[in-house]
Amino acid sequence: MPALWFETAFVDNAWVDRVRLEISDGLVSAIATGVDPAAGDERHAIGLPGLPNLHSHAFQRGMAGLAEQRGTTGDDFWSWRDLMYRFLDRLGPEDVEAIATLAYVEMLEAGFTRVGEFHYLHHDPDGRLYADPAEMAARVAAAAQASGIALTLLPVFYAHGGFGGMAPGAAQRRFLNDVDGYARLLDGSRGAVAALPDAVAGIAPHSLRAATPDELRAILSLAGTNPIHIHIAEQRKEVADCLAWSGRRPVEWLQGEMPVDPRWCLVHATHVTDRERSTLAGSGAIAGLCPITEANLGDGIFPAATYLAEGGAFGIGSDSNVLISATEELRLLEYGQRLSLHQRCVLAGDRPSIGATLFAGALAGGSRALGVEGGIAIGRPADLVSLDADDPAFVARSGDRLLDSWIFAARTGIDCVWRRGTRLVEGGRHVRGEETRRRFSAVLARLMDG
Ligand code: ZN
Repeated sequence: MPALWFETAFVDNAWVDRVRLEISDGLVSAIATGVDPAAGDERHAIGLPGLPNLHSHAFQRGMAGLAEQRGTTGDDFWSWRDLMYRFLDRLGPEDVEAIATLAYVEMLEAGFTRVGEFHYLHHDPDGRLYADPAEMAARVAAAAQASGIALTLLPVFYAHGGFGGMAPGAAQRRFLNDVDGYARLLDGSRGAVAALPDAVAGIAPHSLRAATPDELRAILSLAGTNPIHIHIAEQRKEVADCLAWSGRRPVEWLQGEMPVDPRWCLVHATHVTDRERSTLAGSGAIAGLCPITEANLGDGIFPAATYLAEGGAFGIGSDSNVLISATEELRLLEYGQRLSLHQRCVLAGDRPSIGATLFAGALAGGSRALGVEGGIAIGRPADLVSLDADDPAFVARSGDRLLDSWIFAARTGIDCVWRRGTRLVEGGRHVRGEETRRRFSAVLARLMDG
């Protein structure tokens, strides 16, 4: 049986040399180390497991770069959100599918092999249900299928415009469901991903702004053992509003009122006290960090140094998709700590390598947040990345220094990416990238025209 052979590969968080992976039905069926390639084996230099991208709003890829001009009032998260609402007002199902396909193609080219799609654009531009209430979820699933990326679909429950059951604004009409409507949407979403190999469907209360405590409890009962994602404590205003509503901060409220356990992913969790942070670290829940978006939106910096030292689990997400880059998410995560703490090499753990610590952490935490087991192991999907050994960043590097150099010193550094053993990216480009980019360009040209 032909196999993939790597001069060196990151298996079970350690570097092993001369690795041969046999693959059957998309899964790794045998791993041999210290062996020569057999005739017919595909040979590569440096192998990594694919990374999970635990938080994406794929359609926002279409407005990347459009919110970088200063307005007449102070620009912040909320003015960005107004622009995002105006953009999504124009999107139909075909548009969402085309934009999401491009986003997923770019994720694969960046070394992400699974995406957690935090999906909240459910209804038509007038806020009415589509004939199939899960139409938009089906479009997300179609984009995942076309690109080949693994999908954890997180249909979003969104009912209110602020804490305490505040009425939603007109701009939020495409997101809204009551609990019964959400249950139907969740059913439809599970159906939409059923045909995708190793897809997962979790649940996602949008935020404490968008769901009342009773609604939150009702939809949690639908989760089972699947992932539960929520935006939380991204903005200081959100913290102030939560304090005004409940007397408690958002993460503090969630920890006091909800069973926050390893099924949960707290997306952002930027503004936390020492106590909220250490309780989160001890809960087994994942901190869903999105450093590029958090920087772009001026959210703030998560206290990653203390959180990791406390054993907290984390993953990375491309969130607004303003720029899709696994290495830049990890690099910025470390650089944010350096800039705020005035130190170098902050996020090291048991091993001194920042690159290996961040890569292994994002792989483990991100996989758990998306309801799967990640990494190269027998029985798991052959979701793999090879680095380009000809890239000057990797010359005379070995072991963890390969990850340090990839994350901190390479431009892209990726050669091939496989999903379930199928090679989707070659020479750094997705095999269907050209047609995907053409379709995206046509959609964007129309959306931006008038
Ligand atoms: Zn988000």
